[in-house]
Amino acid sequence: MSLTFDDAYQDQWLYGVPLLRLHGFNATFYVITSDSDVPYKCCMSWRELDTLQGQGDDIGSHTIHHPNNLTMLTNSQITQEVCGSRRDMVSNGIQNPVSFAYPDGIDNATAESIVRHCGFTNARAGGGISNSDFTPSAPYIETLPPKDPMAVRTIAVDGANPEKLADLEGFVTAAAAAAAGGGWLPITFHDVCDKAAADWSHCMSTWGAVQDTVLGQFLDWLVAAGEPGGAPAGIVVKTMRDAMTPNHMTANHKTTNHKISETHHIARISTQGKPGTDTFRLIAGGTVDGRIGATTVHGAFRSLGQLTGARSETEHGTEFDDGGSRSFVHHIKFAIINGQITTSGSGKWTGGTGAYRHARGSFKLSGGGPLGGVQTSHITGSIIC
Ligand SMILES: [Zn+2]
Repeated sequence: MSLTFDDAYQDQWLYGVPLLRLHGFNATFYVITSDSDVPYKCCMSWRELDTLQGQGDDIGSHTIHHPNNLTMLTNSQITQEVCGSRRDMVSNGIQNPVSFAYPDGIDNATAESIVRHCGFTNARAGGGISNSDFTPSAPYIETLPPKDPMAVRTIAVDGANPEKLADLEGFVTAAAAAAAGGGWLPITFHDVCDKAAADWSHCMSTWGAVQDTVLGQFLDWLVAAGEPGGAPAGIVVKTMRDAMTPNHMTANHKTTNHKISETHHIARISTQGKPGTDTFRLIAGGTVDGRIGATTVHGAFRSLGQLTGARSETEHGTEFDDGGSRSFVHHIKFAIINGQITTSGSGKWTGGTGAYRHARGSFKLSGGGPLGGVQTSHITGSIIC
């Protein structure tokens, strides 16, 4: 499946991208190039878009000006909007853009032919996966390769309304059941809204908004594909570009059991909210040193947690090594007592990227230190790749 974000809103950068990175996922972002040329406050700058491409995301075009109906324009106007947007992207550092999304999902044969001639290899149309944006129906899923690469079908879950976790999961589950050994579910997202942001209520009123916590829970579910409580087994997340590339679809993995032993040096723990009364967010970052099997591991990690209460909390986060070789969701118990944080209990690895794409395993964790200061945690366990 593919996670696709339209219009390159700034809130996608602020609230969506950190969640994608924490889960080790890449997405496709469709930019309205005139917005980034200014750059308007609404939207991502070229610098931000270049950064995303550097992190493996797919930066696609959504035309120069987002005309509401591309098919109503003359051929030369369509060519200007489509080829012109691609030239603008390239001249602003985006390398070889191949993905396109029709504004408002409206296309016809003329527009498709122009999009192809401008150099795009896939173009997302509007709908086509299901009759309803709320309840999955046939055909449930796009084929892979797509029936028409210049009119790739998609689903905008819940249409104009804020996207609900149960509905997002429902469309993926239905697609997986219909996949019969293959298929592609590109999901369309727009604004990503954070409750603490000043524009929260406006953001949630925009077309097809998603709350960041809902997106985070959806990504938790996807990254746990094949695990109890996770998405159906076999589901993988790829950008539109990568889904179109056949050699990204086959991978051979040898199953190996590695013993792990790591020490985390957590340099920073910041929290928002009041322990004991509010649900608050934990953002930890630091370095990791240790061994996985015979491999020495050095890297950086970040984790993002949702903590409730003062004593015992569960963290949902992801760990990175700076080599980009693995990323895992883990669930750790934290206790915060008198300004000291202790980490204890057990957790599990549920997925990853690179060499550890299919990692599964469990670990025990102990350690602690001052809240807001430096702390050290020790992790021991085993990981199966
Ligand atoms: Zn749009």
